[in-house]
Amino acid sequence: MRSIEPVDLAVANGRVVLPGEGVVDADLWIRDGRVAGIVSPGTPVQATKTLDASGKTVLPGAIDAHIHMGTDITMAKAPEEVVGETASAVAGGVTTVLAYLMSAQPYEELFPDAVRVMEEHSTCDFGFHFCIGTQHQLDQLGAYVSDLGVSSFKFFMNFKGEEGAYLNLPGNDDGFLWELLKRSSGIGAMVNPHAENVELVWHLREAARAAGGPDLVAWNNARPPIVEAEAEARMAMFAEVLDASVYAVHCSSKLALDALTARRASHDGVFIETCPHYLLLDQDATIGTYGKVNPPLRTAEDREALWQALAAGAIDVVGSDHVPRHKSAKEKDIWSASAGFPGIETLLPLLLSEGHVKRGIPLERIVDVVSARPAQLFGLAPRKGAISVGADADLAIVDFAGTTVFAGERMHSAAAYTPYEGREAAVSVTHTIVGGRVVASNGQVTATGGGRYLRRAASGRAALSALARGAVASTGGA
Ligand SMILES: [Zn+2]
Repeated sequence: MRSIEPVDLAVANGRVVLPGEGVVDADLWIRDGRVAGIVSPGTPVQATKTLDASGKTVLPGAIDAHIHMGTDITMAKAPEEVVGETASAVAGGVTTVLAYLMSAQPYEELFPDAVRVMEEHSTCDFGFHFCIGTQHQLDQLGAYVSDLGVSSFKFFMNFKGEEGAYLNLPGNDDGFLWELLKRSSGIGAMVNPHAENVELVWHLREAARAAGGPDLVAWNNARPPIVEAEAEARMAMFAEVLDASVYAVHCSSKLALDALTARRASHDGVFIETCPHYLLLDQDATIGTYGKVNPPLRTAEDREALWQALAAGAIDVVGSDHVPRHKSAKEKDIWSASAGFPGIETLLPLLLSEGHVKRGIPLERIVDVVSARPAQLFGLAPRKGAISVGADADLAIVDFAGTTVFAGERMHSAAAYTPYEGREAAVSVTHTIVGGRVVASNGQVTATGGGRYLRRAASGRAALSALARGAVASTGGA
């Protein structure tokens, strides 16, 4: 095949990961921001620009389905809250992000500004999840899906009483969760619960504090796996009874994983996310309060169980749970330090290095958890998540002959640190392409802005069945 029409960009001589085919030697032709051809290496074409990917591997860009933005982590409001974090994304091969907006205000009021600041300054494409906490938000759920294109909703099961006050979020209970699940199931939406039984935390934490010990061990003892697992089991049982789709964010322990997997046997609407830090870090990591996160870092046995589940296909998605707060918020005692840390720039290199290179997990499985499956579950496929003709030309080009040494001071996030300081990944991201635009090249972010808002008509099982029917589950533009 020879292209009659010229193309904007040819990515030549790479090893390309294609859905259902694995790793194939191919050239990619890109026109008008989309993949226009996947052809044998060396096929003649008139290209405005050619990028030689000899010796490199071309993956669909990573989709980070779990990030927080803004200095107060509720949403990005200022340009500088968008530029650095999305530079961090593309430097690490992430081409699409789904950010959690967290507010007690009506989202129909916040949404125009949230989209505008991202459209003006985000270097990657983006969508939102809304955190639902008020009766008004609950009543608007259907409009959020149909009018704003947001079809996935966070719920903090642990925000009882005043627990959510630090984010200005109201307290809720299981009755609210029940109602949210019930309403979501009829409108093609999915609920993403933060599952922790905070009443048990209230009971356990003073004893954990009194017992002392290393910071991260004490933090794990204050919110042990049963705190997470019981809440996961409860919400997944609610989902089955109500026939709703649920997405278990940041599953961290074997106990919680087992509870979710057990429920999956009888209900196909339970989806599981873990994060790189639960695979790579545990309570014995010598990173002090930088490693404080909820749920806590667990044990080496928990990490192993999560890796096995990832390799076996029992984990759907790996998202970073990126938190951009500055490192000064972490430099306190373990009980007062803020929870969470940055992870968007390290997500893909760590999975490729630790999962593929060191553990031998096939490249396609890694691509599945970080590109294909998040696209399918969050209503972004077939436009996103795979390299195929007609899809957006979102690519991460990586070099397994290269290495990356992580250093907070070289990263792009405003957080200015990384829990992986000094760690070496056996891969380097050499180029990131978003919608046909080369936005990062050999470690340098070469563009700012250009990101597009992604409307998502459905999430969860509704998104999967729309895909299976061949319906277009996502459209461009706000
Ligand atoms: Zn989160």
